[in-house]
Order: sequence, then C-alpha cells, then structure tokens
Amino acid sequence: MPRTALVTGGSGGIGAAICRRLAADGCLVYVGYFSSQAKAEALATEIGGKAVKLDVTSPADIEKAAELCGAVDILVNNAGVSEIGLFDSLPADRCRRITEVNLVGAMSCARTFVKPMIARKSGCIVNISSMWGQVGASCEVDYSASKAGLIGFTKALAKEVAPSGIRVNCVSPGFIMTEMNSHFSADDLELIREDIPLGIFGEPRHVADAVAFLISPQAEYITGQILAVNGGMVI
Ligand code: NAP
Repeated sequence: MPRTALVTGGSGGIGAAICRRLAADGCLVYVGYFSSQAKAEALATEIGGKAVKLDVTSPADIEKAAELCGAVDILVNNAGVSEIGLFDSLPADRCRRITEVNLVGAMSCARTFVKPMIARKSGCIVNISSMWGQVGASCEVDYSASKAGLIGFTKALAKEVAPSGIRVNCVSPGFIMTEMNSHFSADDLELIREDIPLGIFGEPRHVADAVAFLISPQAEYITGQILAVNGGMVI
C-alpha cells in the first residue's frame, strides 16, 4: 500500500515541488488548492494523485477534504500568503487573513488529520514556516509572526503526539524562487542574492527534498525540529 499524503497549497511553487517529490517517492498525493483548480488538476494527473479543493480557512472544506482523503499518513501544511508593507499601514483585515491562512489554517488541518493518525499510532506532519519566522522581517511583520507561530505550534504538537508515534517537524525556507517573490525587481533580487552566503536563490525542489527527508525512515528519531533551507542566509 502506498503512503498517502495531503499537501495544502499543492498548486503553488513550493507545494507543487513537494507533491512531485512525494509522488516520486511512492506516495499517493492529494494536491490541495485554493483558487488554482486547473493547475492542481493538471499536477494531479501528472503524478497520479488527486486534486482537492481545500481553503484552509474553511472548516467545511477541511471536513470535505477529510472525507475525500480519509486517514492520510502525511500532512504537509504548506499553504501560505504574504504581504509586504509597514506594520501600521496594512489594513487589519489583511493582517488577520495572513494569520488565518498561515497559522490557524495549518492548525485546523492538523487538528482534523491528526485524529486518525493518533488512532493508528503513526503519521507525519510537516509545517512550512519561513526564515522570517525565526528572525523576523521588517515590512513583513504579520507574516513573520504567523510563521513564528508555526514554529511554536510544531514544537508543542510534536511533544503532545510523540507518545502516539506521530512526528511533527518544520521546514524553514529562505528565499525560494516562486510566484510569492515575483514582485521583486531585478535590482532588488541582486541585492538579496548578495546576502545569501551560498550565492544562489533556493529552488522549490530544495524545500521538497527537506520534506522528503523528514517524512522518511531516515528521520524516524527526529521530531519537533526546524530544518532551515536557506543557503546560509539565517544561521
Ligand atoms: P505560492 O507559489 O504563492 O503558493 C502559495 C500556495 O498557497 C498556493 O498553492 C495557494 O493556492 C495556496 N493558498 C493561498 N491561500 C490559501 C488558502 N486560504 N487555503 C489553501 N491554500 C491557499 O508560494 P510558495 O512560495 O510556493 O509558498 C509556499 C509556502 O512556503 C508558503 O507557506 C510560504 O509562506 C512558504 N515560504 C515561501 C518562501 C519563498 O521564498 N517562496 C520562503 C519561505 C517560506 P492557490 O494557488 O490554489 O490559490
């Protein structure tokens, strides 16, 4: 029987790479999407998985996804949104949305999908945080706070469910080339690149490789950890 995996935000840059990698490793992958249905369905066809409409802020969507996917072996909480702007100038509803998607959404999905894992005494959850959750970013205060919350959530949940044989870990990417960073100008990108000790931007596959490791038997004694994938930008 192949292991089953649900990847939230599987339609995005990093999410799609995670879906492809887990499928290549033999998993049956459920590709979660919010608005990019066509992308998710094309990816699901490519990797022999299934596309699942899953707005992580919608309890009804989470319930439907749980019915469709059943008891998954692996949950990757990857869905995320970001917004650049000074803390005191971003409208409160946009700040709330960032927290609801990035943190509360991940917690809500975990709350639902961990139950069958506890019953079966096995499972893996991987949360996708950010280096800004570790050190904070100016002009991304709400985003940084939500991602720091994911780190705390990872550590606390890992302790709570370890006796049930479930591992909970976190990947903390640095600057990865996806749609999320498409607003940066060429000049900005060059300045950012100069701050990366390895001298290159991360690619979605780098994050996918870290997720693949954390859910593998090679990581069977690893839980509650934050694995940074950032080219040395935050050490
Ligand atoms: P992306 O290409 O913009 O993808 C974002 C994904 O999140 C999309 O699949 C999108 O779905 C989904 N999403 C947005 N709102 C959602 C909601 N309410 N419910 C469910 N899914 C929702 O961004 P990315 O770079 O791949 O980012 C993936 C994750 O990595 C995020 O958590 C991000 O914070 C984190 N990260 C990224 C970087 C980076 O440099 N790129 C660095 C650190 C951390 P639809 O397209 O279907 O709407």
